[in-house]
Amino acid sequence: MMNAATSNSEKRNFASPNVMEIYFLGTGTAVPVENHSPAGLFVVTPQLRLLMDIGPGSLSRLNHIGFSVDQIDYLFLSHLHPDHTLDLITLLQVFNSAPETVRQKKFTIIGCRGCNEFLLHIYDLYPDVFPSGYSLEIREVYRDEFLLGDLRVQSGPTAHTESSVAFRLEEGGHSLVYSGDASQQGELTRLASGADLLVSECSFPAGWQTEDHLNADEVGLIAQASNVKSLVVTHLYPPALRVDLLSQIHQHYQGKAQIAVDGLRLSLE
Ligand SMILES: [Zn+2]
Ligand SMILES: [Zn+2]
Repeated sequence: MMNAATSNSEKRNFASPNVMEIYFLGTGTAVPVENHSPAGLFVVTPQLRLLMDIGPGSLSRLNHIGFSVDQIDYLFLSHLHPDHTLDLITLLQVFNSAPETVRQKKFTIIGCRGCNEFLLHIYDLYPDVFPSGYSLEIREVYRDEFLLGDLRVQSGPTAHTESSVAFRLEEGGHSLVYSGDASQQGELTRLASGADLLVSECSFPAGWQTEDHLNADEVGLIAQASNVKSLVVTHLYPPALRVDLLSQIHQHYQGKAQIAVDGLRLSLE
């Protein structure tokens, strides 16, 4: 069952047994729009805290919901565009040099192909962020499946870029799929099959011509074909916010659908 999570301002930790909490840190694109910041999704399981994409401002908004940067166990990167990655530089700086948050335990990035090379470019630009007191592991994925403790992780290509991936997380009978940025040439329908919750990009309104994103028609068709129990749309460009996006999606998809705003919190329990 999907519920709105309870509001809480104290320092937060892991989720209760059999619960997966989902916090929408950023539900927009690179275009500045109120309540729709660049991409970031924070997922808390009973054992792990995962940041999925790290667009500019993600770390401030993570702090705002009561988590600190040292609580992030894994960073997932769907692809390497700036609206999904810019705060990675900030994170590395904080891990190296900020009082009280210097990182000592290993940090792992699970991301699309090209992450290793991307990090090397960041170190060229900002030599001071090269990990000094901790080890950084980078695991590049494409069409993969593995366990992180009790959490089953799957990835699959989304054809937004050559290497872009979506992620599926499953634990305790709950399943969440995050599209990252996607196009209809990707494998999102397969990856999302039967999921409790699909968090999908919906960059544009119905009828909008796009090769490397999804419009409302395509999102509705994917949600229907994959038979997900519920859909939340994110990564909304301004034209998508000017129309009745849910009606457009419901032309194709009969399940529950919702438009994400920054600060939205949901839980699978
Ligand atoms: Zn994007
Ligand atoms: Zn992108």
